[in-house]
Amino acid sequence: MSVITEFIPVATRGYTDIIDITQNVSDVIKNSSLKNGIATIFVSGSTAGITTIEYESGLLEDLPQAFEKFAPMNIQYHHDRTWSDGNGYAHVRAALLGASFTVPFKDNKMILGTWQQIVLIDFDNRPRKRELVVQIIGE
Ligand code: ZN
Repeated sequence: MSVITEFIPVATRGYTDIIDITQNVSDVIKNSSLKNGIATIFVSGSTAGITTIEYESGLLEDLPQAFEKFAPMNIQYHHDRTWSDGNGYAHVRAALLGASFTVPFKDNKMILGTWQQIVLIDFDNRPRKRELVVQIIGE
C-alpha cells in the first residue's frame, strides 16, 4: 500500500464559484503508480467546499440559489462583527458543504457516475487562489 499526496492550485472568482475539478483528480490517479484505492480531495480554508454534482448550466444556477436560501449573503452574521470581513455567509455555507470528498478508484479510473462531476465551490467574497490536496491511498 502507498500514499501519494499532490497539490493542485486553482484560481477562483469567489461568490459561490463552482469549478469542475474532475479532470485534475483523474490526472493525479492516472499519473500515479496506484491502480486501486481511494482518493480524498480536500480544500484548505474555511470558506470553500467540495462535493459532486452534474455539471450542467441549470444546476450551476440551482445550487447557488439553494445556498442563498440556507445562508443568505444579505443578512447579519456574528462573524462579520468579529472580523468585519463580510464573509460570514461563506463560512456557514462551507461548513454545511464540507471540505473534502472521497471517491474509490479501480484500474486507474474513479468509480463515478456518468453525470457525476467533482466540484470545488468557493464561497468567499473575493477571488481566491486555492490549493487542493489530492491524497490517494492504494496499491
Ligand atoms: Zn471570515
